[in-house]
Amino acid sequence: MATTQRVLDASEIRKQFPFFQPHPEMRSLIYLDNAATTHKPYSVIEAVSHFWAHYNANVHRGAYGVGAKASELYEGARARVAQFLNAREMAEIIFTRGTTESINLVAYAWGRSQLKPGDEIILTEMEHHANLIPWLRVAQETGAKVVVWSITDEGRLELETLKSLLSERTRMVAVTHVSNVLGTVNPVAEICRLAHEAGALCLVDGAQSVAHMPVDVQAIGCDFFAFSGHKAYGPTGIGVLYGRREVLENLPPFMTGGGMIRSVNWDRIDWAEIPMRFEAGTPPIAEAVGLHAALDFIDSLGREQIEAYEHELTQYALERLQEVPGLKLYGPQPDRAGIFAFTLEDIHPHDIATILDSRDIAIRSGMHCAHPLGDRLGQKSTARASLAVYNDTEHIDRLVEGLHYVRQVFGYAG
Ligand code: PLP
Repeated sequence: MATTQRVLDASEIRKQFPFFQPHPEMRSLIYLDNAATTHKPYSVIEAVSHFWAHYNANVHRGAYGVGAKASELYEGARARVAQFLNAREMAEIIFTRGTTESINLVAYAWGRSQLKPGDEIILTEMEHHANLIPWLRVAQETGAKVVVWSITDEGRLELETLKSLLSERTRMVAVTHVSNVLGTVNPVAEICRLAHEAGALCLVDGAQSVAHMPVDVQAIGCDFFAFSGHKAYGPTGIGVLYGRREVLENLPPFMTGGGMIRSVNWDRIDWAEIPMRFEAGTPPIAEAVGLHAALDFIDSLGREQIEAYEHELTQYALERLQEVPGLKLYGPQPDRAGIFAFTLEDIHPHDIATILDSRDIAIRSGMHCAHPLGDRLGQKSTARASLAVYNDTEHIDRLVEGLHYVRQVFGYAG
């Protein structure tokens, strides 16, 4: 389908990725597991390696030149993230190890200090465990209650349902921007507005959105926004928590140790200002530098262009997947992101993934860290293909051919 080529050219984009270049020891792979992690362009790998080779030093303490340069690069990455998310200021950006740690930070720092028995936290049925387990745990500890916002049979969230759940007891609405199973894109700006009207805060899990569409935290109006570098063409070990200054300023730290206090003696601790208060110990410095390069990579393609390109590719995939007899696709259609969880006849998803691997196609199978969603769908395990900007229609064609082959292997006709 030539139309997708109009917006971005995936074959040109793949040239920027060493993973997709021929290698004597590696088979070339159709990589469709981008919701788990994305590959890294040369620019990211080079930025990280350049840092290790030339600027390696700890941050915020070195009086010598390289130490100052390391700090400059680390804080430069923070400024870049602030600009990327359209935060009001860089102090609202906290570096963590990933989305999981970002949400744990909120659950512990905010939840433990603010929640009391009878308070309610609204979570949706489609949350990844990263935005579920920290809340269940903090609810158990504080006597707060987790209230479940159910999805429709199609896999969407209805705002009317949220309205019926919100009350003066609601303290937090925590919702994923894009479901890592259903591909549903949630109306997070409306959700945050309704949460605020009820006097609650709103956290958005952006793990599956930030690399695929423009994200503006002020336009969304969220209090917190979390994402991981490695799902956005950046390194593992680096994540971001955006927090609105007014909220962050009133929170105690999550972890404690070096670099997060103003002063300490045996009787008293004065916490540092934000964001340092939330970054105890040596932070992921090279990884932050890599994240900076990853955001530059995304912006070099253009976020509107990425969204448009992936949207067209998603529509193509929806059409082509329908051709496979016995394939059941989960999640809404046609308006969704490029994440496709499916089952095929009664073939176990692990078998589907293993047979596709024999044809050099990488997809994921399992529960995708969303057990309550699996219960809701009545399907514990599914196969999942997920797109990124370097995929194209040929990859979808190969996937569809591969799925026909899987059926044949299991003796299904047609
Ligand atoms: N939230 C969602 C929606 C995800 O898909 C994932 C990972 O797949 C996470 C959170 C957790 O991300 P990480 O493991 O990078 O912390």
